[in-house]
Amino acid sequence: MKTIGAHVSAAGGVDQAVARAVEIGANAFALFTKNQRQWKAKPLAEETIAAFKQACRDHGFSPAQILPHDSYLINLGHPEPEALAKSRAAFLDECQRCEQLGLTLLNFHPGSHLGRISESECLKRIADSINETHAATEFVVAVIENTAGQGSNLGFRFEQLAEIIDQVEDKSRVGACIDTCHAFAAGYDLRSAEDAIAMLDTFASVVGIEFLRGMHLNDAKSAFASRVDRHHSLGKGNIGLDGFAALMRDSRTDDIPLILETVEPAIWPDEIQWLRDQSLT
Ligand SMILES: [Zn+2]
Ligand SMILES: [Zn+2]
Repeated sequence: MKTIGAHVSAAGGVDQAVARAVEIGANAFALFTKNQRQWKAKPLAEETIAAFKQACRDHGFSPAQILPHDSYLINLGHPEPEALAKSRAAFLDECQRCEQLGLTLLNFHPGSHLGRISESECLKRIADSINETHAATEFVVAVIENTAGQGSNLGFRFEQLAEIIDQVEDKSRVGACIDTCHAFAAGYDLRSAEDAIAMLDTFASVVGIEFLRGMHLNDAKSAFASRVDRHHSLGKGNIGLDGFAALMRDSRTDDIPLILETVEPAIWPDEIQWLRDQSLT
């Protein structure tokens, strides 16, 4: 089955996100479990946790259909010890919030070397951060998102995702999420059906398809291989519809959250329906 949705707002409490996903016809969704631009958040209230779990039960969302995203401030590969410790503490808090909500996946951007340490040292720090977090939590899976490679952000080559995963001890609790806009901006073409399938083939051979735990389906305002991260609505950007249709027909995208982070929430219902239609043709 295809599970398709969007990154919906959790304004008013995480339980509100479920109703917003239902409204747009989604059977998957993403959310922030705290303000993504702040370091600290109040702990989740017992009532909020109960309301979230009840809403998920009422509307048939299992944890495999929900892909929470962590704060943009966190850098698990930070070159400076103090800043790295701060990021690791915030990431642990994010993981614990997920576990309180019964959520099994947490999507995050790997990290940045800031020009001060080598790529491989940064990737090792990210893997160590994941190992530390695993030791302090019970079940949440760390889902590493590929990036556009803007600035000193790592994770723009599938080889970099593989290098992190190789150094994670518990392979059952690490995975990856392919963002199509980021992949395109990083130089993985998706404009034709053949290109899109070839991108998945490359991921499968470099990282391993068993590690694919989610996808972000975004068209790109940015140019191919530009290393610039600018999302667009499906079919309105430089990728175009053919690649997305091909991804929907591929069984490797079954049963993982397929999440829109496109720029026009008003048309999410249409984008979701269009994606669903492609999977049936
Ligand atoms: Zn992201
Ligand atoms: Zn994304």
